[in-house]
Amino acid sequence: MRELTRELLTEFYSRKFNFEPLFKVISPRKFANREFGFVMEENGEDRFIRNISFSTPRELRNYMAENGVKAAYIGAIYELPPTPGTSITKLKWIGRELVFDIDLTDYDDIRTCGTGKDHVCHKCWPLVVDAAMIIEEVLREDFGLEKIVWVFSGRRGYHAWVIDEVAKYFEEETRDAIASYLSPDNPDELIPISYQRKIIRLLLKKDLTLLIRQDKKVIKKIWSELLKRLPRIDKKVTMDTVRLLRMPGTVHPATGKIAVIVEDPQSFYPDDAPTIWEVLGVS
Ligand SMILES: [Zn+2]
Repeated sequence: MRELTRELLTEFYSRKFNFEPLFKVISPRKFANREFGFVMEENGEDRFIRNISFSTPRELRNYMAENGVKAAYIGAIYELPPTPGTSITKLKWIGRELVFDIDLTDYDDIRTCGTGKDHVCHKCWPLVVDAAMIIEEVLREDFGLEKIVWVFSGRRGYHAWVIDEVAKYFEEETRDAIASYLSPDNPDELIPISYQRKIIRLLLKKDLTLLIRQDKKVIKKIWSELLKRLPRIDKKVTMDTVRLLRMPGTVHPATGKIAVIVEDPQSFYPDDAPTIWEVLGVS
C-alpha cells in the first residue's frame, strides 16, 4: 500500500471530502448534538479521541482537514453537545440509527480461498453480498423497516444503516433481538418458518418445493450448509447504542479506500471504491 501521510489526509479533507454520503445516513437535524470520534497521529503515535461535537458540518470538515485525521467515526445524538469536558456518559442519550456490521473475517471458518483481515477475493466476497441480501429482506418484510442504506466499510465488509425514524429510538434489547433473529447464536435451534423460507429461497435460489422432493439426509446436509451462510453480524456493534461507526465518505486507514455509499450491494466489489490516491490524482 502507498503511504497515507497526514499531508495527503489534510488535502483530501480540505479539497475533496464530500458530505453527501454522511447525510445519507444521518439527518442534519440535531447535528450539533451528535458525537464524533477520530484517530489522529500525535507525536508519532495514533491517538483515539471521542466526545467531540461540531456546530456545523463546515466545522467538522475543518477539524478533519486541520488534524489530517486517519479515521473518523460517528456516534449517537445526545441532549447536549458532547465535549471532552462533558463526556457522553454524563449526557442524556437521545437516539442513534440502527446499524449492522458484516465483516468477512467472521466467515474465516468457511472461507477456503484465504482468511484473515487482509484477504478479500471474488470467491469469498459473495458471503458478504448474500448476508446483505438476507438482512435487507428480513428487515423490510419481517420488521417493517424501509430505509436501509448500505456503506462499504472501507476494507472487507458492509455497514447497514437503518435510518427509519422509529429505529433511532430502539433500546438495546430491541436491537439485540433483531440481530439475534438475523444471526442466531445457535442456528440449529428453531428458526421461524418465514425466515427458513427466505434462507432457502435467497441462498439456494430455489423454491422450497424443490427441496421437499429430496430425501431427508440430503435436505439435512443442504440445510446445515445454508445455516453456515446466515448473516454473521457483529452483535456488539448493533446492540451498543453509544458505539462509534466509520463515517461514510471518509478514508479507511488500512486500505486508503473511501467508505462509499453502496447503491446496490449485490453488484459492488471492494475494488470499486476509490482510494484517496486516486481521488487526489497522485500515484
Ligand atoms: Zn477469498
